[in-house]
Amino acid sequence: MSTQYALVLNSGSSSIKFQVLDPKADSTEPPFVSGIVEKIGEKNGHIKIQTETTKMEDTRPILSHSVGLERAFGMMSLLGVGPQELDLRAVGHRVVHGGEEFHAPELIEGDVLDRLKALIPLAPLHNPANIDGIENAQALLPNVPHVAVFDTAFFSTLPEAAANYALNAEVAREHNIRRYGFHGTSHEYVSRQVPGLLDKDPSEVKQITLHLGNGASATAIDGGKAVDTSMGLTPLAGLVMGTRTGDIDPGIIFHLTRSTDMDIDEIDNLLNRKSGLKGMAGVNDFRELQKLVDDGDKDAKLAHDVYIHTLRRFIGSYLLNLGGVDAITFTAGVGENAVGVRRDALAGLENFGIEIDDARNANEEGIEGARKISTDNSKVKVFVVPTNEELAIARYADELANQA
Ligand code: ADP
Repeated sequence: MSTQYALVLNSGSSSIKFQVLDPKADSTEPPFVSGIVEKIGEKNGHIKIQTETTKMEDTRPILSHSVGLERAFGMMSLLGVGPQELDLRAVGHRVVHGGEEFHAPELIEGDVLDRLKALIPLAPLHNPANIDGIENAQALLPNVPHVAVFDTAFFSTLPEAAANYALNAEVAREHNIRRYGFHGTSHEYVSRQVPGLLDKDPSEVKQITLHLGNGASATAIDGGKAVDTSMGLTPLAGLVMGTRTGDIDPGIIFHLTRSTDMDIDEIDNLLNRKSGLKGMAGVNDFRELQKLVDDGDKDAKLAHDVYIHTLRRFIGSYLLNLGGVDAITFTAGVGENAVGVRRDALAGLENFGIEIDDARNANEEGIEGARKISTDNSKVKVFVVPTNEELAIARYADELANQA
């Protein structure tokens, strides 16, 4: 039987990222096809399609998301790997905000799109692009089941004490203001591998997962259920990120409103896009930050130190609330690669049963898959587990398509 593939779409405000992959593949296997449509609406719109053996690029204006997607599918067909040729089993869509409506991946049929549209006020920057992506893909691939996979779903188990803000209850209820959490697909995918690495039953495992990419978040998990997480109503909260502040005193926003001429959208932009590592040190790429630190740049050093300090603050809080953990796991671009971040985040915690093995922690060429970086004596096991959100979405999409 020929391989049956799933298409995974991540539709953002000015770009669409996608992969065609085998949901049954091993997590280290590269996708069969990957592509990006970027700079939608700009003069230098760009589409890039890549397979294991070839690639194709096209630079010219892309008027809309639907034009971009159709053109990308056309380029894939020219390479012989178009959605029509591949006998696609399912299309999985990454949807950022599932609100209180969606607690698990969902087949997109009936009133699902309407329920998604009703959530736009909760994620005005992300959900409209996700919905647009679903509608465009459904128009181009009407005979394939489409599945929505939510960044928030894994956190529907948060206890009320962790999910609620001490905000006026009436206002919070009326506007659905609570901690939703994000990166759930990644935290779930990574955390599910940990019981196997510990040789324990999932119900017995207490763990912390640290997704450190451009966006970053920490999650406390007890018996497979998320019990706390660092992102909130929006992905702005929590850890220091590439361009986002993470937690700040909300009073800063009032102060800026009163003492500058910035309007609320400018402040939103400042906190989401011009802060974090980029705002403090001028670069959001962690490798560049590390280079600047090595060169003695003071701003970069401060940004780095605030990043680590904030990370430790969350790890400490989750350790306490879980009453100790069996494992701490690093994932995503920074978590999987930045040896120094892993070392500094957990330095000096021997009294808490946490001991990193420097040799294991050092990256070695060719290391793929999950690995332990703590010493054999360390009571708490520390792991690096590569995340693969696309594969996780492909698996959900395939699973729900089989039930359709
Ligand atoms: P996202 O999916 O959130 O855009 P990724 O998970 O790909 O992000 O992570 C991107 C981040 O990972 C960037 O800041 C990048 O600098 C960092 N990164 C990638 N490789 C390394 C490395 N070898 N050392 C340190 N940081 C790295």
